[in-house]
Amino acid sequence: MALEEYKRKRKFEQTPEPPPKVEAKAGHRFVVQKHDATRLHYDFRLEMEGVLKSWAVPKGPSLDPADKRLAMQVEDHPVSYFDFEGTIPEGNYGAGTVMVWDVGTWQPLSPVPVQGKYVPGTDAEAVAMLAKGDLKFRLKGKKLNGDFALIKMKGRRPGSKGTEWLLIKKHDDYAVEGYDIEAYDESVLSKRSLAEIAGDSGSKEWKSRPAGGGKLKAAWLADAVAKLDKKKAAESGQKKKIKSK
Ligand code: MN
Repeated sequence: MALEEYKRKRKFEQTPEPPPKVEAKAGHRFVVQKHDATRLHYDFRLEMEGVLKSWAVPKGPSLDPADKRLAMQVEDHPVSYFDFEGTIPEGNYGAGTVMVWDVGTWQPLSPVPVQGKYVPGTDAEAVAMLAKGDLKFRLKGKKLNGDFALIKMKGRRPGSKGTEWLLIKKHDDYAVEGYDIEAYDESVLSKRSLAEIAGDSGSKEWKSRPAGGGKLKAAWLADAVAKLDKKKAAESGQKKKIKSK
């Protein structure tokens, strides 16, 4: 699917978000972004078919199989959204602060378990499972690991757009009973909190944090942080204006 809806909703001369571009190469990364917009939520995105298939999860993902987290499917995002962390200015779609909460890779699981266990599947199976509304996958992230399912809800509630799915952790060695997402509240990209990313005046860590992200091993992470630092320096004069809602 192309990125028309993504493009239509945004003014690229105003937002720091990446432009719409469908990638030719098929990757298997995932990202979870914590987004302090009109309502705080987490955006769960899987790289698939050259774009990021995206769901907004109000309560965020959970490692507790007992939690069935509502996940509203939203428009596909460009793959370069993968490391977007920063502030979308007021007056723009999704205005507010975005944190890269988790990143990693994913693999499709076969829709048919073998001896009660899920085994790796193919990309074609993933595409078919997505279309069917029952996508099973395995995550290898910094915070999220193990097997999950995204299941499209059949029964429509009044006023629903038919975009409601449930994000559910499968039972495996990575399951955590009573998982508390609030206990993991920092960026995997920059180690910053949402408040620090937003540049709140109370944020000492932000002011004293060395530029360039010295601890970051991955080149793409270091590049992304350097970009953010540069941008933040340019914006520091107007940070009061772009406070998150
Ligand atoms: Mn969002």
